[in-house]
Amino acid sequence: MTSELGTADHPLRVAIIGSGPAGFYTADHLLKQSDIHVQVDMFDRLPTPFGLVRFGVAPDHQKIKNVTRVFDRIAQKETFRFFGDVEVGNDISLTDLSEHFHQICFATGAETDRRMGIPGEDLARSRTATEFVAWFNGHPDYRDYEFDLSAERVAVVGVGNVAVDVARILCRTPDELAETDIADHALDVLSQSKVREVVMLGRRGPLQAAFTNPEVRELGELVGADIHIPPEDMRLDSLSEAELENTDDDTLRKKITILEDFAQRSPEGKERLLTLRFLVSPTELITGDDGGVRAMRIVRNELTSAGGKLRPRATEHTEELPVDLVFRSVGYRGLPMEGLPFNESWGVIPNEIGRVTEPETGQPVRGMYVSGWIKRGPTGVIGTNKKDGTETAGAMLEDTGSSSVLDPAHPDPSTLDALVRERQPHVVNYADWSRLDELEQSRGEAGGRPRVKFTSRVAPVSTSSRSRSTSVTNTTWRYSGRCG
Ligand code: NAP
Repeated sequence: MTSELGTADHPLRVAIIGSGPAGFYTADHLLKQSDIHVQVDMFDRLPTPFGLVRFGVAPDHQKIKNVTRVFDRIAQKETFRFFGDVEVGNDISLTDLSEHFHQICFATGAETDRRMGIPGEDLARSRTATEFVAWFNGHPDYRDYEFDLSAERVAVVGVGNVAVDVARILCRTPDELAETDIADHALDVLSQSKVREVVMLGRRGPLQAAFTNPEVRELGELVGADIHIPPEDMRLDSLSEAELENTDDDTLRKKITILEDFAQRSPEGKERLLTLRFLVSPTELITGDDGGVRAMRIVRNELTSAGGKLRPRATEHTEELPVDLVFRSVGYRGLPMEGLPFNESWGVIPNEIGRVTEPETGQPVRGMYVSGWIKRGPTGVIGTNKKDGTETAGAMLEDTGSSSVLDPAHPDPSTLDALVRERQPHVVNYADWSRLDELEQSRGEAGGRPRVKFTSRVAPVSTSSRSRSTSVTNTTWRYSGRCG
C-alpha cells in the first residue's frame, strides 16, 4: 500500500514550467516545508534559467540581477532539478507531465506584447519594446533581429518602466554600455547609433504615468542626454490636481516633484535629447518614400473620470511628429497553453489564488496551477513574485491531502529523467548552467564587465557521449550531457 502523499516514501512531485522569478519563488516556498516532502522539477524552453531576470531586466541594472543568488541557493537543494532547453508543449506534452507529477504549475510569464491598434503599426521601423529588450539582452530567439539605429528621431509609445528601459538604453553612451552585460551584437549596433532624440509618449498625464520614481529619476541623470518636458505637457488638469491634493501617497507627490524638476531644466547641449510627452496618443504611423515610418500622427487627450479611474479621451487637436523609428511599449500579454483554459481579453490563465479554473464553472482544473504574470497579468516588480509564488504554493500545499492532485502512473523521478532525455537529448541541468555562468563571467572579467553572454544555441555535434560536457566557441553554445 502506498504511504500518504508528501512523506519521504511518497513525496509530492511538482513540475514548474518556467524558471523566472515566479517559478523560483513558488519552488522556494514548496521546498522549505518541514512537514511535507516535495520534489520540484523545473522546466524551461531555453537552456538558461531566470527568465526575465536574464532577458528582461536592463543590462545597466545589474543590482536587480543579484536576485539570481537567491535562485542559485534554491537550485542547490537535493529536491530540486532543472531541465533546460525542454519545451513543454513541444518536447514534452502536458499529458506526459500529468503521468509523472501530482501537480503542475505554469510560471511562463507574458511572452508577447500588446498592440496599439492603429494604422501603420506594422510598417518597417515600427518595432516592439519586447523584441528590442530581448535583443539587447542576448535572448537566443532574438539575436538575429536587426534594428536600424541610423534613425535620428525615435518615439517610444508608453511611459511604463519598460519604455523607460528602452529610452535609457537608446540614450546611454557606448562607454556606459560597454560596462554592462549587454549582448555584444547590441553593443556594436548601439555604439554606432545615430539616434539624437528620443520622445516618450504617455497617453495620460504626468500623475498617471506608470513608471516608478527611481526609474524615472535615472532619466535625469544620464551622462549623454538632456531631459525635456514641454510645459504644456507638464501642466496638471483639474482632475489630476484634485487627486494630488487629496492623496496621502507620498510617492505620487514625489513623482510630480521629479517631473517638475525635469520640466524646468534647460538643455545643457548633451549629445542626445530625451523628451517626455504627456496626454498624447498616436493615431497613425505615416509612411515615407522608402515604405518605412516617416512620422506619427498624434492626438492631444484630455482626462475623464470613468469607473473611478482617469482615462484619456481624444480632443480635436492633432499634430504630426516626425520620427524615423517607433517602439511600442504598451504592455505585455500572456500566451495560451494547449490543454488549459485562457482568458483572451486579459491574456492570462483564469485562476483562483493560483488554482487554474474552468471559465464557465469556476471549478479548479485538477492538478494545474499558475504563478507570476501568466496568473495576475504583467504587473509588479521582481519582488512581487515572491508573494505571488507563496500564494500559489500555499494553495498547492493545501490541496495535497485532497483528491485534487493528479494520480501519476510514473511518479519515480528517474522515469521522468529518462523520458526527457529521450525527447530532448541536449537537456541542460543546473550544473551545466553553472559552468556556463562561470564561463560568461570569466569572459567579462578582462573588459571589466559583469559577464559576456553566450547568445545562440547550436545542436550538439555528437549526442552519443553520456559524459557531461559543454564546449564553447566564440558566441556559440554546444551541449551534450545528462540531467539530474
Ligand atoms: P506598464 O507599467 O503596464 O506600462 C504600460 C504603458 O503603456 C502605460 O504607460 C500605459 O498607459 C501605456 N499604454 C497602454 N496601452 C496604450 C495605448 N494603446 N496607447 C498608448 N499607451 C498605452 O507595462 P510595462 O512598462 O510593460 O512594464 C510591465 C511591468 O514590469 C510593470 O509592472 C513594470 O513596473 C515592471 N518593470 C519594472 C522594471 C524595474 O523595476 N526597473 C523594469 C521594467 C519593467 P496607461 O497607464 O494609460 O494604461
